Amino acid sequence: MFVSDCLKVNEKGHLTIGGCDTVELAKTYGTPVYVMDETTIRNACRAYKKSFDMYYGGNGMALFASKALNCLEICRIIKEEGLGLDVVSGGELYTALKAGFPAEKIHFHGNNKTSDEIRMALEAKVGRIVLDNLYELETVNQIAGEMGISADVSMRIKPGIDAHTHSFIRTGQIDSKFGFALETGEAMEAVKKVISYPHIILKEVHCHIGSQIFDIDPFVHAAEVMMDFIQDIRKQTGVTIECLNLGGGFGIQYTKEDTPKSYDSYMEKVSQAVKSKAKEYQLPIPYIYLEPGRSIVGEAGITLYRVGGIKEIPNIRTYVSVDGGMTDNPRYALYKSGYTCLIANKAAQPAAYKVTVAGKCCESGDLIQEDTMIAQPEVGDILAVLSTGAYNYSMSSNYNRIPKPPIVMIKEGQPREIVRRQSYEDLIRNDI
Ligand SMILES: *Cc1c(COP(=O)(O)O)cnc(C)c1O
Repeated sequence: MFVSDCLKVNEKGHLTIGGCDTVELAKTYGTPVYVMDETTIRNACRAYKKSFDMYYGGNGMALFASKALNCLEICRIIKEEGLGLDVVSGGELYTALKAGFPAEKIHFHGNNKTSDEIRMALEAKVGRIVLDNLYELETVNQIAGEMGISADVSMRIKPGIDAHTHSFIRTGQIDSKFGFALETGEAMEAVKKVISYPHIILKEVHCHIGSQIFDIDPFVHAAEVMMDFIQDIRKQTGVTIECLNLGGGFGIQYTKEDTPKSYDSYMEKVSQAVKSKAKEYQLPIPYIYLEPGRSIVGEAGITLYRVGGIKEIPNIRTYVSVDGGMTDNPRYALYKSGYTCLIANKAAQPAAYKVTVAGKCCESGDLIQEDTMIAQPEVGDILAVLSTGAYNYSMSSNYNRIPKPPIVMIKEGQPREIVRRQSYEDLIRNDI
């Protein structure tokens, strides 16, 4: 009925998540609150693992792109499930290490890592540093040299693929701030440079063509282009790259219009493409990494708000204001992202009212969704926004000095806080 299997409606007509009544959760933990279902997260991890086993002989690993959601408990869950982790900053790396995440399964991304971050990553002995540009190559080589070690690196390549998604979250084409371009020869020049550096070992090439992608074809195409590139590298330099990282970007269901494919159908096609290219070029079958972010945590999470003011502007629209907004979910303000909204305490009632859900920030653009259908709203209702598990908490801010909501995790019908609500004292903690 809803976008995620962990959501149901109980006999009171209330929305439940992981078997817990969301109206009760809102009472216990206050609003706004992020609520997540642990089983859904673990099942997503296992689905990736299973499809690697089924279609690629287990010769690969999913790395959770932790920018989608990073906190200690999430790192622990991902570790327990045996996935690796992508980080893009010292802060994400710090969190992962504090959670006891094995460093060798961490890949360090980012288009402008600072020297301090690179040193921190090398000292922690992360599995890979993903080089984005030549300036970074110099820095990594120099710091690794000072430390008397060599750094295992990957290189981020722009394969020149248009993944038919919103331009803000499209990264595989030439005009992107990320990585080395293939078509211009920049990538090959960079590879030659990288392998000539004494304190760098090139282990892997990487691409990430975008996010919230439903078509399998662009992924298959990217895999082929990258295999061609691996062959080219061998021809031109004699070096055989053993690992291929195909990035993340698998779409999830935010609204009924979204139609995700199973990871199995993705893995089946992509592994076919990789294997047949390997055969054609007589290359070893590469170890494959994938980097799912939103597809691991997105559908597992919802946000609960309390409805405050309702403003009917005749013949124009009805604003339903909630006690959060762009501070806990900036994605509509940033990308006009679609979301499913519903009144959690009226989850069995027909969604017959067209409303615009607004936040409480001093910005007209502070909206969660425009012209969306919900049950008749009243002050005090609990409004649920679905599929907020990815890029909500991790993109949240303290604009207007609004404290960040807690994250409540449900496991086997039992809720527990995994991130506390920020207090007003937290807000002034670093003020002098
Ligand atoms: C954002 C990102 C991901 C994850 O993208 P999702 O759409 O959340 O799966 C993976 N790899 C890289 C390099 C990214 O930048």
